[in-house]
Amino acid sequence: MNQNVSNAADIADLKLRMRGFINDRVIPEETTLLAGGDAARDAMAALKTDAKSAGLWALGHPEELGGGGLSLMDFAYLNEIIGRSHFGQMAVGSVSMQDSIMLHRYGTAEQKAAWLDPLVAGDIYPSVGLTEPEVAGSDPTLMQTTAVLEGDSWVINGHKWFTTGANSAAFTTMFCETEPDAQRHGKFSAIIVPTGTPGYTIDRVVRTMGDTLGSHCEISLKDVRVPAENLLGERGKGFLIAQKRLGPGRIFHCMRWLGQAQRAFELMCDYANRRYAHGSLLGEKGEIQRYIAESAAEIQAARLMTLDAAQAIDAGDEARVQIALIKFWGARMLHNVIDRAIQVHGALGVTEDTPLALMYREARYARIYDGPDEVHRMTVARRLLKDPVGNAPW
Ligand SMILES: Cc1cc2nc3c(=O)[nH]c(=O)nc-3n(C[C@H](O)[C@H](O)[C@H](O)COP(=O)(O)OP(=O)(O)OC[C@H]3O[C@@H](n4cnc5c(N)ncnc54)[C@H](O)[C@@H]3O)c2cc1C
Repeated sequence: MNQNVSNAADIADLKLRMRGFINDRVIPEETTLLAGGDAARDAMAALKTDAKSAGLWALGHPEELGGGGLSLMDFAYLNEIIGRSHFGQMAVGSVSMQDSIMLHRYGTAEQKAAWLDPLVAGDIYPSVGLTEPEVAGSDPTLMQTTAVLEGDSWVINGHKWFTTGANSAAFTTMFCETEPDAQRHGKFSAIIVPTGTPGYTIDRVVRTMGDTLGSHCEISLKDVRVPAENLLGERGKGFLIAQKRLGPGRIFHCMRWLGQAQRAFELMCDYANRRYAHGSLLGEKGEIQRYIAESAAEIQAARLMTLDAAQAIDAGDEARVQIALIKFWGARMLHNVIDRAIQVHGALGVTEDTPLALMYREARYARIYDGPDEVHRMTVARRLLKDPVGNAPW
C-alpha cells in the first residue's frame, strides 16, 4: 500500500508532503467534518482515498500489515504533523494505532483477518472498554465486569463507560474479570466483542466538553455471548495486555498534542504580528514575547522528551518512566500553550471563529485519559525513589 520508507531523506520528504496534506487538504475540511452527517462522511472518505494515493496512509503500521513500517522515532515527527488537525489521524490511517499494535501482538491469525486487516485499511474502527463508572478507572484492578466461559462461549455481564468511539466501532476489546481467584493483576482477560452482539447496549453517548459529535459511550453488557476464540491473548493476561496497549498509546497522544500545541503557537505568533494596541504590535510587547518564548521552550522540551521515549521504546525498553514523564508534562504543555494563544487573541480566542476554543476544551481531557496526572507522577516518583539515577543518560 505504501512506499518502503527507510532513510532520512525519505523522512524529510514525507514530513513535507504530510504537512502539505494536513494543512491544505484536511484543515480546510474541518468545519464540514465537525458538522457531522453525510457531508462529513463523504469528506472523510475523500481524504482517506487521497491519503492512500499520496503514499501517506498508515505510515506507522508494520509493513507486513500494509503500513509504512516507520520506527516509532521516525513516526513521532510525522504524527506531530498529523496531530495538527483533530481529524488528521483518521484521514491518514493512523487513528487507534495502539489497538492495531495490540491485535498485531496478541491476535490469532483469524482475529487478525477479521479485525486487524480492515482496521489498518481504515474500513472499520475499534474501541476499548476498561473504565467503569462504579470503580476508579485509574486503578484497573478494580474492574467489575465479568466473563464466564460456558461451553464454547464467553458470557459477559457488566457496565462500562467512556468507551470512546463505540458508537462507530465494529468491536470493543472488553476487559473483564475471568479469574476471580487469581492475584489482582492476573484476574482479567481481554475479549473481542462485536458491537452488534445481542446484550451489548449503548445506553447513552455521554456529552462531554469538546466532543462535538459525541463519542464517549456508556455501555451495559447483559449476558453478552461471544465465541471462546474471541479471547485476545491468554486468559488472565488482560492487565498486561492493557498496559502494553497503553504504553505506545500514551506516546501517540503526546505526538498529537505537539501538533496541536504547534498549531496554536503558530496562530498566536501570526496574531501577535498583526494586532496593534497601545502604540505597537502585540508581538513587540515584552509580556507577549514572554508567552511566545515560554511556549516555544515548553513545546521543544516536550518534543525532545517524546522523542526520547520513542527512541527507548524502539530500542526495546518498556520506557515506563519516560512515558509517564511525557504523559503529565505533555498534557500540561498542551494546556499552557493553547491557553496563551487564546489570551493573545483576546475575545476572538474564546469564539468558535478560530480552532483554539475546541483545542482548549479537548486539551483538558489530556490530564485524565490513559491515566490521570497524579498516577503518572506516582509512577515516576516511585521508580526514581528506588533508583534516582535510573533516568539519567549515563
Ligand atoms: C476523553 C476521554 C476518553 C476516554 N476514553 C476511554 C476509552 O476509550 N476506554 C476506556 O476504557 N476509558 C476511557 N477513558 C477513561 C479514562 O481512562 C479514565 O477516566 C481514567 O483512567 C481515570 O479514571 P476515572 O475517571 O474513573 O477517575 P478515578 O480513577 O476515579 O480518579 C479520579 C481522580 O482521582 C485522582 N487520583 C486517582 N488516583 C490517584 C492517585 N494514585 N494519587 C492521587 N490522586 C489520584 C485523580 O485526580 C483522578 O483524576 C477516557 C476518558 C476521557 C476523559
